[in-house]
Amino acid sequence: MARRKKIYEGKAKVLYEGPEPGTFVQYFKDDATAFNAEKKDVIEGKGVLNNRLSEFFMIGLENIGVPTHFLKRLNMREQLIRQVEIIPLEVIVRNYAAGTMSKRLGLEEGTRLPRPIVEFCYKDDSLGDPLVAEEHIIAFNWATQQDLDDMVALALRVNDFMSGLMYGVGIKLVDFKIEIGRLWDNDFQRLVVADEISPDSCRLWDIETGQKLDKDVFRRDLGSLADAYTEVARRLGVLPSNATHMPKPTLIN
Ligand code: 5GP
Repeated sequence: MARRKKIYEGKAKVLYEGPEPGTFVQYFKDDATAFNAEKKDVIEGKGVLNNRLSEFFMIGLENIGVPTHFLKRLNMREQLIRQVEIIPLEVIVRNYAAGTMSKRLGLEEGTRLPRPIVEFCYKDDSLGDPLVAEEHIIAFNWATQQDLDDMVALALRVNDFMSGLMYGVGIKLVDFKIEIGRLWDNDFQRLVVADEISPDSCRLWDIETGQKLDKDVFRRDLGSLADAYTEVARRLGVLPSNATHMPKPTLIN
């Protein structure tokens, strides 16, 4: 990889300085982590799949008028994105109970919620990304009331888009997490979908069998994560063939 300035390295991605001001290159790693990085592994091909899937979802969102940070895919593992100021909140939308909501409220996983529920968690690994109320967000100045209203509207549009897309390929969108960034145009601010949208940050269940096709496969040791993500990509027509499972190059004597 060419030498260039690393801006930030997270658990699953690296951000590099982009070719033009106001841009970054987002590199998708094969690293998988769960439970605040207590469980770690390298899943060959995960970065390639998430790069393609995130591109696919972001382009789809742009096409229905939902702004995102995405500019273009550069290669198998990298995409060019707009530089945004990330709001330090994870925005979670839930259609069915699962994960921490099931634990917190004693709801059986898979229980249909009366309507989509939007939650906010404060992005801080050392605190385990705690759930916070709108009161905290405004009091601590992480976002304004107007930002919050816009974030909820954005998250619900992403939910409608992603739910419909997934339903069309026999997958139930149980819940997902997005991050939102501020994009400045002089003094004018726009909120855009940032980070990534991939099976790393969604719960995706097969409608017929209930089979999990998301990061819970890794979190709960349910089988091959690469196979699950490949299945999502295959159903969506994102990968023409089993492109991530290509054999390693061999030396020809
Ligand atoms: P839960 O709160 O049940 O653990 O997660 C709700 C949804 O948000 C799940 O789809 C989960 O994958 C996603 N999510 C929550 N926190 C994170 C996070 O820190 N990283 C990623 N990639 N996804 C998250």
